Amino acid sequence: MPMKGRFAPSPTGRMHLGNVYSALLSWLSVRSQGGAWVLRIEDLDPQRSRREFARQIEDDLRWLGLDWDEYFVQSDRSEIYTHYLNVLGQKGLTYPCYCTRADIMATQAPHESDGRIVYAGTCRPKQLEEAWLNIDAHPSGRKPATRIIVPDEEISFVDAHYGEQSVNLARHCGDFVLRRADGAWAYQLAVVVDDALMGITEVVRGRDLLLSAPQQIYLYRLLGFETPTFCHLPLLCNLAGQRLCKRDKSLDLGEIRKAGHLPEAVIGKLAFYAGIIDHAEPVSAQELVSEFSWNRVPLEDILVGPLFEVNEE
Ligand code: GLU
Ligand code: ZN
Repeated sequence: MPMKGRFAPSPTGRMHLGNVYSALLSWLSVRSQGGAWVLRIEDLDPQRSRREFARQIEDDLRWLGLDWDEYFVQSDRSEIYTHYLNVLGQKGLTYPCYCTRADIMATQAPHESDGRIVYAGTCRPKQLEEAWLNIDAHPSGRKPATRIIVPDEEISFVDAHYGEQSVNLARHCGDFVLRRADGAWAYQLAVVVDDALMGITEVVRGRDLLLSAPQQIYLYRLLGFETPTFCHLPLLCNLAGQRLCKRDKSLDLGEIRKAGHLPEAVIGKLAFYAGIIDHAEPVSAQELVSEFSWNRVPLEDILVGPLFEVNEE
């Protein structure tokens, strides 16, 4: 079986250079190994996802010369996620959670100030077999989210770029959500089911998701799927060391295209910052395939100043 990678953008805005960089490295890794590349639109957040942003992402990738072999849209796949949620439910590992965000925040210890939320297990039933009885008659009148029970043990894996990692899910996140109270599928369930069913063998993405991998590995194991290789990337940051964000106009691919910059200029600068080439010269993605090697990509986050002139007003 040939290797397969993927790019899985959430269509909540126009691509910015941080997304382009992730897409480029995933694509180069695949093409340099003769593998297949999947484009998967992760439009599970009904409030934030827009069809027109998905179209824009496709257009931007074509413009950049990053071609894909297979294409999926997560909002088409609800029945598949339902099936795997039920598999986990039948194992007695899921339960309904009625907590509001405020309820969850109220149980947080003050030191968990890195933004991480550790669910305290408030709704975890003592008798799991009774978890799903009477869910229509809950005193709050609310619909529940579905959470999965996590074990109090270390989950270890070797990231292909960052090496050995180990996380205790009970301490890191607690029982986590598979389906939100409004019915939306959680990223963790969808990403595992999709990567497994699509035959993805290599997951390349920003290191902001490095510690999501253990949650995903837990689900892979429970569902009997083989885990892919994870290869996380250093983040692109501004000179103040903050992760590039989409509010900055000079990083927005739409603005960069509007100002007349060429795809080779965008690819060349990003490849230079990623360590793949020694000079920031214009180059096509295709021309980089033979140059690509993970050894050149640094471990430290990559600080970049303004990369392109755009029309500011
Ligand atoms: N859709 C996720 C995001 O845009 C990426 C998920 C992944 O690569 O696993 O942040
Ligand atoms: Zn709860």
